Amino acid sequence: MQKNIQSFLILTLSVIWSMTANADKPPIAIAVHGGAGTITSDWLTPEREKEYNAAIDQALRAGYRELQAGHSSIDAVVASIKVLENNPLFNAAKGAVFTSDGHNELDASIMDGQTLNAGAVAAIRHIANPIELARLVMDNSVHVFMIGQGAEDFALEQGMQLVPQSYFFTQRRWDALQDELKHHGIAGIDYDIEYGTVGAVALDRDGNLAAATSTGGMTGKLYGRVGDSPIIGAGTYANNRTVAVSGTGVGEFFIRTLAAQSVSTLMEYTDASVNEAVARLVHDTIPSLDKSRQIDAGLIAVDAQGNIALDFNSGTMPRGYINAHGDAHTAIYPDAD
Ligand code: ASP
Repeated sequence: MQKNIQSFLILTLSVIWSMTANADKPPIAIAVHGGAGTITSDWLTPEREKEYNAAIDQALRAGYRELQAGHSSIDAVVASIKVLENNPLFNAAKGAVFTSDGHNELDASIMDGQTLNAGAVAAIRHIANPIELARLVMDNSVHVFMIGQGAEDFALEQGMQLVPQSYFFTQRRWDALQDELKHHGIAGIDYDIEYGTVGAVALDRDGNLAAATSTGGMTGKLYGRVGDSPIIGAGTYANNRTVAVSGTGVGEFFIRTLAAQSVSTLMEYTDASVNEAVARLVHDTIPSLDKSRQIDAGLIAVDAQGNIALDFNSGTMPRGYINAHGDAHTAIYPDAD
């Protein structure tokens, strides 16, 4: 009898202990996106809708596992991005869009909010996971940004494998290029298309923020064109004082507004909340640069307290989060939030 009471007490105490231990733990949080734009309804069948949501969920869980294990937000965003880079549904690495002359040229970047260290690569043609190369540039070189052949030589020196261009090929993206060339020619670009860039932002147990973005760019972009995704401050930014941000949309407009860093600046100097700062960029600053047409823009962000914002002005943006309470959510259309 006494033994029973004893084990009951031990059990009760250990439950209370684990509850308080969890309550005391600093928050962790993660969010990912799979590109702003408008996925046409003929492509986005109910079946595919499930696939997009499952992929976003898989990416979230991969990152969240890292955070739960006490690993860094950098580890988390890399894990999430790799899941999406490997999935041909998205315009990053496998399944990337084509340049006007029929190549896949990949851009990626990553930023550490604790140190403001960052790594970025652009115009990559033979690396299966460009986000890993961006991380190597951050961790193992004195540089921030490497491009093309030089970046791939560095990748080889770092022990990475090269893959042929055929690794990235999908019929869907090839057909999209043919369509683009037919309607807009070599120098034109259709802003009203579906993109599929991927991004991730995370807050770890040590209070460190990180952001990462990876993309094939825009269908029919001119050879050598670099968008916002690998430009620190434009498509990607993280700073422990404020926020971690990843963007998606028409890259030229993100570069011209320094969109990702502007979210941080607004928060730091105007006391805007993460939601307010993100909304300002997506619905005001970026579209105001060209009111004659729709300029697609989306941003995801997590602040230093674990508050998450996901906002976009386009028809779709596959996205999701796991917040500081452990609640998980994925969605594609605007009104599903
Ligand atoms: N921002 C990317 C770029 O311009 C495209 C995208 O987000 O889908 O390269």
